[in-house]
Amino acid sequence: MTNEFEEIEDLLIEGNKKYQWKIVQEEETPKIDGPIPKYPVLILTCMDSRIDVHRIFQLKPGDVFVLRNAGNLYTEDVLRSVLIAIHEYNIKYILILGHVDCCLKKIRLGELKDKLNDSAIKKIVRYRTNFYLELQKFFKTFNDEIQNIENQLQKFRYAKELPTYIKIKGMLYAPYSGWVFEEKVFRKYSVYENFAKDYRKILKAKQFELIDYLEKIEDEIISGDVLKKLEEPEIIDEHGEVPQIEVEMNDQESFNFNVDALEERNSKTSSFDDPNFDFEQFQNKSIPMPKLQIPKIYIHIPKIKVYVPVLYKKQSLKSE
Ligand SMILES: [Zn+2]
Repeated sequence: MTNEFEEIEDLLIEGNKKYQWKIVQEEETPKIDGPIPKYPVLILTCMDSRIDVHRIFQLKPGDVFVLRNAGNLYTEDVLRSVLIAIHEYNIKYILILGHVDCCLKKIRLGELKDKLNDSAIKKIVRYRTNFYLELQKFFKTFNDEIQNIENQLQKFRYAKELPTYIKIKGMLYAPYSGWVFEEKVFRKYSVYENFAKDYRKILKAKQFELIDYLEKIEDEIISGDVLKKLEEPEIIDEHGEVPQIEVEMNDQESFNFNVDALEERNSKTSSFDDPNFDFEQFQNKSIPMPKLQIPKIYIHIPKIKVYVPVLYKKQSLKSE
């Protein structure tokens, strides 16, 4: 059963690679059938607007349950939802998706306190023995994103309310790069500061995987829908037809264009000597207005972005 969670973890990480390397699945009307959710997984993450869970893992609606709060914390209300998810929806795995640059790390309690109204203060600070400790306890601020994930993992693992078969793992998301890191990647750093120091190296390692990964999905690209999208662009209007518009030109322009009319007028120049010659009528008659037909086309170019990733030679890695 543990293998299943590892498979799902691989699926999520692979989804994140596709998201990173723009091998992005087409949006389609979601077909939601089978079990709810499709995978027996609940993801707990932060409310941070930069985390689009479905997008960064290339998941579809119906795939997983998602719970969010400030700091991706284990709380009474999270426990409430988790118990429903477990007992009513057969959730077996919980993934805590923390992220770097979390607001809970940046909050200054002193400044926040000044913004709170009396009712909020009354609710939060009950004993007034240690004002800031009570504030901190209520908002659950923390100093380190990686340690926070560890703490939440511990809380879930030791929560007696949860059945023992529930498996829990952590992941760390970096909003600026879009990469998701598995426990085995960030855990060895134990604190975020160390992880940050090595961040470029960690990213580099992720990039090395691109060639291997492209080889792995080569068949999928060649046989799949990717090529279909590269077919001829369509030339249609909004009604699905090739439209034409008429462009009317003024007399001066039509004169320049209508060579026949010009020659005809020149051949009759002698008639100008005729006292009865109606010059205006002659002009109107002899210079017809041509209509130019210029097709108006809409070229629909499929939205395909070609990203040329920066590739590093593997040799340079070995030499390190
Ligand atoms: Zn956050």
